[in-house]
Amino acid sequence: MKKIFIFLGPPGSGKGTQTSKLADKLSIPHIDTGSLLRKNIQDNTDLGIIAKSYIDKGQLVPLSVVSSVIEDRIKKDDCKEGYILDGFPRSVEQAQELEKILERIGTYSLKNDALAVYFDIDNEVLIQRLINRRSCPKCQTIYNLLSNPPKIMDYCDICDTKLVQRADDNEKTARARFETYEKETAPLYEYFKQLGILKELQADKPISEIWENLKKVVFED
Ligand code: AMP
Repeated sequence: MKKIFIFLGPPGSGKGTQTSKLADKLSIPHIDTGSLLRKNIQDNTDLGIIAKSYIDKGQLVPLSVVSSVIEDRIKKDDCKEGYILDGFPRSVEQAQELEKILERIGTYSLKNDALAVYFDIDNEVLIQRLINRRSCPKCQTIYNLLSNPPKIMDYCDICDTKLVQRADDNEKTARARFETYEKETAPLYEYFKQLGILKELQADKPISEIWENLKKVVFED
């Protein structure tokens, strides 16, 4: 089986939900650059201060910032047996940077050890999904008020904490994030296809069906 799992797809396509399930199943870390950056913002680090201005506008945070966050994380011991990348790389430039980071660390390579899973879904469906997305600030469980609501409105089913909406899930920033996705991230589809590591998944299906299909893609490879 592959060691590095890269999830590619527009914002709100359900990558986070599926990657968390896969990380549990494989017992490997789920590395989500968006969450790592938001943690830096919360902790008011220098890096967080830089990142915030880009995240608030729905733009990509500069490569130097993201690449140091990723390199520090994948160098850790718990990544030795593999890991899941969710939200990175997000441009061809970042994919090239990832290859350099892997060379520096001296473990895996994209061509031989990575599987990129592309979540295929219509953009307008996703904008509605994003605006209705809520998450638990304590246990990080993700809900959707339309398709996967909590049992008690606005409270987490698991730990009863009040759910929050991400600051960048408002309609204006959500649309900007899609523009950024089309311009910067969508070209990665061809890049990974050329490398021979791309698999596609229909993401406009119920969570359980996507999960079954994802397992096939991961375990049959
Ligand atoms: P996400 O949680 O994946 O939707 O990411 C939220 C925001 O964090 C994005 O809109 C970007 O501003 C920033 N971000 C996350 N991952 C990256 C990345 N790989 N490169 C640059 N910016 C990123």
